Amino acid sequence: MENKNVLIGVAWTYANSDIHLGHIVAYMPADVTARFHRAKGNNVLMVSGTDCHGTPTTERAIRENKTPREIVEHYHKQYVEVFKRLGMSYDCYTMTATEFHEKHVQEMILKLIENGYIYEKTEPASFCPKCNKFVYDREVEVVCPKCGAVSKGDQCGNCDYVFQTQDLLKGKCRICGSQTEVRDNTNLYFALSKFEKPLREHFERSKQYWRKNTVNETYKFLEEGLHDRAVTRDLNWGVRVPLTNYDDKRIYVWIEAVWGYITATQLYAEQHGLDWTDWWYKNENRENLIYMFHGKDNIVFHSIIFPALLMATKEPYLMPEHCVSSEFLNVNGEKISKSKGNGWPMLDMLDKFDADSLRYFCIANGPEKRDSNFTFPEYHAMHNGEIVNKFGNFINRTLNYKGLDGVLPNGVLDSQIKEKIEGTYLKVEGCILKNNFKEALEHVMWLVDEANKYYDEQQPWIAFKEDKEKFNNCIYTCVQIIANLGNLMEPFMPFSAEKIRKYLGIEKPVWNFVAVECGKNFGKFEVLFTRLTEKDVL
Ligand SMILES: [Zn+2]
Ligand SMILES: [Zn+2]
Repeated sequence: MENKNVLIGVAWTYANSDIHLGHIVAYMPADVTARFHRAKGNNVLMVSGTDCHGTPTTERAIRENKTPREIVEHYHKQYVEVFKRLGMSYDCYTMTATEFHEKHVQEMILKLIENGYIYEKTEPASFCPKCNKFVYDREVEVVCPKCGAVSKGDQCGNCDYVFQTQDLLKGKCRICGSQTEVRDNTNLYFALSKFEKPLREHFERSKQYWRKNTVNETYKFLEEGLHDRAVTRDLNWGVRVPLTNYDDKRIYVWIEAVWGYITATQLYAEQHGLDWTDWWYKNENRENLIYMFHGKDNIVFHSIIFPALLMATKEPYLMPEHCVSSEFLNVNGEKISKSKGNGWPMLDMLDKFDADSLRYFCIANGPEKRDSNFTFPEYHAMHNGEIVNKFGNFINRTLNYKGLDGVLPNGVLDSQIKEKIEGTYLKVEGCILKNNFKEALEHVMWLVDEANKYYDEQQPWIAFKEDKEKFNNCIYTCVQIIANLGNLMEPFMPFSAEKIRKYLGIEKPVWNFVAVECGKNFGKFEVLFTRLTEKDVL
């Protein structure tokens, strides 16, 4: 059968703060999936970018006396560096503040207007006469009608009441302090309510692939009833509206950021002379897969909003059926927050710790079905125990065996070990395809445990002196295990996997049993990992 086209969309990081481990745990399964499918020979396209627009970015720019572009470029640069150092194998990592993205979002907006799914509506709204603009929830200060507290207009800081449009009409502008006026405001709206039936069908078809959190959140959203959503806002930072009379408005971030999956694919295709619809349109002759990876705060944008936009184009889009939504990562049992200072910037962590080891943590302790936790003692124990003592040590004590002189002896592969290796490929594949990444890694580590057990049973340090044939068979078998770990570890620990393959002369990762030939000369192997000590904390 022809190879599959696999599109992997990873959530877009919002450009207003340092990227930390809490983000990475939601993204890492995407890279595992991408690397696995590449090893299987599929045409993978992994895309994402920096989400540049929205009020928190403009608010930060005002606070720091910078332009929004300066803010987003600073963070974009940081994110690109973090992903590179972590080995996130994006085929295209871009940003939403580009002319390319703007042009293609505008095309989509015009198409949806043409199809009758985006329409104009005039409604009363808060206008600040001094700032000479319409002001929105976070920019308005109101007295809470429920408890009387004075609060920002998105949600009452005292009683959590979510303000309605009516409540905001009697507020003050938080930018200049003036009383706001009520004026008619015209905006574009997306007719989400028209997609209830096809979205319910999409839900029924896709929920078999989803985790519980995605099924529950999506179901709840559908049951509450679908409401049309504003497409434009009074802003000066964002994608411009391709219509006259909209000069002081921009496209609302929810609709253009999620469309970034399409524009990033289009960008990559244009740069590489490919057809972007090969990944996104239905094709009877090929089984395509579309994955979406994100945190649980982003579920409905991927399970409802984005599919609705695709449907509204009336083009033959495949629906993104494989939504993989992570729970949250806590630090020392608490939610990551700036005020607690527990969301260490990822760049600092990469300066201090091995990238593969951090990747291993993200999967082994990934918040797949419930929130998970990071503490330094647990991270140290995992690094020293599983990575250094088991994985690293097995490779080191085989390849650097004194008296081996870096040449693979003539030996016979233990048949039980061969079966175990082949079984591991199948088990890991099955788990990755079901988005059970933690369990997939456990299967690889099971093979590492079996390898160490075999080594200890064979006692090569005795056989070396007493039974050369037994020694040769043992080393030969262990080297074949290592060669296959160079494939099996590729999705999880790509830097180590590459070092192994390079050392053993294996060209590229594949997803089947590989063997190294006798006589292969490999010289000295550099130790893969070093132990962490108690001093190694941030
Ligand atoms: Zn209140
Ligand atoms: Zn004002």
